[in-house]
Amino acid sequence: MKADYVIVGAGSAGCVIANRLSADPKVSVVLLEAGPADLNPWIHIPVGYFKTIHNPTVDWCYKTEPDQGLNGRSIDWPRGRVLGGSSSLNGLLYVRGQPQDYDRWAQMGNKGWGWEDVLPLFKRSEKNERGADEFHGDQGNLSVSNMRIQRPITDAWVEAAQSAGYKFNPDYNGADQEGVGFFQLTAKNGRRCSSAVAFLNPVKSRKNLTIITHAQVEKLDIKDKRAVAVRYKDRSGTEHIVEAGREIILSGGSINSPQLLMLSGIGEAAQLAEHGIEVVADLQGVGKNLQDHLQARLVYKSNEPTLNDEVGSWLGQARIGLKYLMFRSGPMTMAASLATGFMKTRPEVETPDIQFHVQPLSAENPGRGADKFSAFTTSVCQLRPESRGEIRLASADGRTYPKIIPNYLATETDCRTVVAGINIARTIARHAPLTSKISTEFRPHPDLPMDDYDATLDWARSNTASIYHPTGTCKMGSDKMAVVDDRLRVHGIAGLRVADCSIMPEIVSGNTNAPAIMIGEKASDLILQDYR
Ligand SMILES: Cc1cc2nc3c(=O)[nH]c(=O)nc-3n(C[C@H](O)[C@H](O)[C@H](O)COP(=O)(O)OP(=O)(O)OC[C@H]3O[C@@H](n4cnc5c(N)ncnc54)[C@H](O)[C@@H]3O)c2cc1C
Repeated sequence: MKADYVIVGAGSAGCVIANRLSADPKVSVVLLEAGPADLNPWIHIPVGYFKTIHNPTVDWCYKTEPDQGLNGRSIDWPRGRVLGGSSSLNGLLYVRGQPQDYDRWAQMGNKGWGWEDVLPLFKRSEKNERGADEFHGDQGNLSVSNMRIQRPITDAWVEAAQSAGYKFNPDYNGADQEGVGFFQLTAKNGRRCSSAVAFLNPVKSRKNLTIITHAQVEKLDIKDKRAVAVRYKDRSGTEHIVEAGREIILSGGSINSPQLLMLSGIGEAAQLAEHGIEVVADLQGVGKNLQDHLQARLVYKSNEPTLNDEVGSWLGQARIGLKYLMFRSGPMTMAASLATGFMKTRPEVETPDIQFHVQPLSAENPGRGADKFSAFTTSVCQLRPESRGEIRLASADGRTYPKIIPNYLATETDCRTVVAGINIARTIARHAPLTSKISTEFRPHPDLPMDDYDATLDWARSNTASIYHPTGTCKMGSDKMAVVDDRLRVHGIAGLRVADCSIMPEIVSGNTNAPAIMIGEKASDLILQDYR
C-alpha cells in the first residue's frame, strides 16, 4: 500500500489531520489506528467514561512505574485505543489553557505558536453553542456545549468559592481564565463529540482517505535519513507495509509517539543500544520532558443527597436512563466535572497555578463506581508542574508497553503548590453555603491540621492520581533536548513529523484535548504550506 500521507494514530490530533489533508481529492491519506472503530455505545454517551476507562477493548490501560514522589505507588494511566483516541473516553471538558502558555512556547523560539497564532485555530475547530465572539467560533467541526445537568452541591461550591474571595468567571476560555464557574463540554445534543465524531465521520466516505483500524504500527522504515514507510501488524499478527510518498505523521500520543520513534532507532543512543536497536538519529530528548497534571481528590460527606444516592439504586438508575432517553439531559450527559476554578496559590504567580474539578459525586477511584454514601468531590491539580518524568523503552518489541516514569512532586515548588491547593480546597469547604451542606470531611480527614505541611504533603503523596494529561515527550524546540522543530519535523529525519500532545514544550494550564486538536489544526496547515 502507498499513500501521500500516512498518519499513525486516530486520536484527538490525528483525526483533525486526516480530515484536513484529505480535503484535496488529489492527495491520498492513510490513517492507521491500533484500536477498533468507536462502536462501543458507551463511548458516545458522555457519562460512559465510567464504563470505557479501564476497559482493555478501548483503553491501553497503562500503569506507571512505582513513583517515589507518590510514596512508591504505581497509578493508572488510561489512554484511548480506539477511533478518536483519548477524546473517545475522556471527561469531555473543553479547556484551552492560558494565552501565556502559548506565548511562552513562542518565547522559547517556536515561531507561529504564540496565542495570537493559535487562537484562530481554536476558533476554526469550534462550534460553540453560545455562538461566535472574539474568542469563540461557531462554524467548526467540534461541538462545544453547556452542561445539561446542574446539581445544588456543585452550585454551592461555586458560591462558597465566591464567599472565600474568588471571582465568578462565566468563560474560562475567554479573556481571562481566572475565577470559578462551570465547564463547557465537547458534546452535541447530549452526545459525546470526540475528535472522530467531529473530524472523521463527516469525511469517512472520501475515496482518497483510507482508515484502517486494528493496525498497530511497530516500526518506521528510514532510508538515508528519510522516513519512507510504516510497518503495522493487523489483528492476526500479519505485518503490512504502507509507503509514504510525501510524509509520515505520528499522532500516537505522549506515550506511544516517543516509543515508536525509539523502536525505529530515533532516540537516546545509549538507551537504544540497551535494547539492541540500531541508532538512526541520536535524539536525546525522545521520551524525556514528561509532564502531567496530578490531582488531589478531596471528598466531603454531605447531609443532602448527591449523585451518589441517585446512582445507588436501580430506581435511581432507571430514572436517570429515562431522562436521558426522553430529554437527552440529566446525569448521563455529565462531563467528568460540573464546576471549575482557576486560582493562584500565591500573589506573586502571574496567572492561575491550580485548577479545580468539582463533581456532585465521589468514588474511591475514578471510573470504579460511586461511593455508597452522600458525598461530593473537589479535585485540585497544579497547572504547571516543574517535575519532569520520562517514557523509557522496556523492550525492542513493539507490543511491550514502555516504562512510564512520571517523577511526580519532585521539586519544592510542586510540593508547595499541591499542598497550597489542598488547603484552598479545604478553606472553600468552610464557607457558606457549603458549610451547611457538609456533614464531615472524608478525605483527607478532619484530624489532619491545615497548617501541618509535612502531613498534608504525605497525604498527597499517598492519595493523588493522574488527571490524564501526559505531554511533552517529543518536545518542540531547537535545543539539544528538542525532538521536533517548530514545524513539527523530527530533527535530522526528513519526511517525518510528530503532531499530538507530546510536542508541547511545556504543559498547558488546563485540560489537554482542545490543545491537542489545535495541534492537529496547526500541523495540517504546516504540512500543506510546506508542500506548496
Ligand atoms: C480518562 C481520560 C480523561 C480525560 N479527560 C479530559 C477532559 O475532560 N478534557 C480534556 O481536555 N482532556 C482530557 N483528557 C486528556 C485528552 O483527552 C488527551 O490529552 C488528548 O486526547 C490527547 O490527544 P493526542 O492526540 O495526543 O493522543 P490520543 O487522543 O491519545 O491519540 C493517540 C491515538 O493513537 C493511537 N496509537 C497509539 N500508538 C499507535 C500505534 N503504534 N499504531 C497505531 N495507532 C496508535 C491510539 O490508540 C490513539 O487512538 C483525558 C484523558 C483521559 C485518558
